[in-house]
Amino acid sequence: MRQKIVAGNWKCNTNVQEGVELAKAVDSIVAEKGADDVTVVLGVPFTHLTSVVDAVNIDRINVSSQNCAAEAKGAYTGEVSVNMVKSTGATHVILGHSERREYYGETSEILNKKLALALEAGLTPIYCCGEALEIREAGTHNEFVVKQLEETIFQLSADDFKKIVIAYEPIWAIGTGVTASSDQAQDMHANLRSAIAAKFGEEIAEETSILYGGSCNPKNASELFANKDVDGGLIGGASLKAEDFIEIINAY
Ligand code: PEP
Repeated sequence: MRQKIVAGNWKCNTNVQEGVELAKAVDSIVAEKGADDVTVVLGVPFTHLTSVVDAVNIDRINVSSQNCAAEAKGAYTGEVSVNMVKSTGATHVILGHSERREYYGETSEILNKKLALALEAGLTPIYCCGEALEIREAGTHNEFVVKQLEETIFQLSADDFKKIVIAYEPIWAIGTGVTASSDQAQDMHANLRSAIAAKFGEEIAEETSILYGGSCNPKNASELFANKDVDGGLIGGASLKAEDFIEIINAY
């Protein structure tokens, strides 16, 4: 059965102490209220990884980095390798977020290197994809997002592909307060699932978790998650408040 996942993406927010407090708050509410069968992930800054892993019960809360280096090690000043991420106790890595593609020139070629390294290190990649507003308005969003997959995660072996979590995040919905409608989300997720089925077969497509991201909040989460092809969310702004994040986790 495919996993339901709610993952927070804190982006470049909170200092270490604030992050630890936030993580503890999420952990204690999850302990108290439960998260049913939802896998909870916190995507935190590199500097926070060790402290957050130490602060939470890792049987309840998974910790993720938001990026990793495209090289395994060496003379790459300022970079953080998959091995470093893994050694903190983190289990996931967010890759290909549109902010990284747009502001840091992250291409499919770079992403393929990061994906290979992450998988080799035993980290679960949360692979982000999604179209800009012009592409949505031109009506070519379905082909555009499938092409992103074809250039990256469809290059993997079936065994490696099975380890990937996909997050569909329309760029026009990220941090804008404009959410994709429930139908828009379902249509794209179904489109991606059928592309996965064509590439890797029905069984793998059915097992792949596809999260929605883009202004998801406690008010719209239930409607989005009610769609049969939406398996949870990647949550930016609303993951910075423990109560909001928990409401989203409990929106199933
Ligand atoms: C994100 O950046 O992954 C995201 C979904 O952001 P927000 O929820 O703030 O739109």
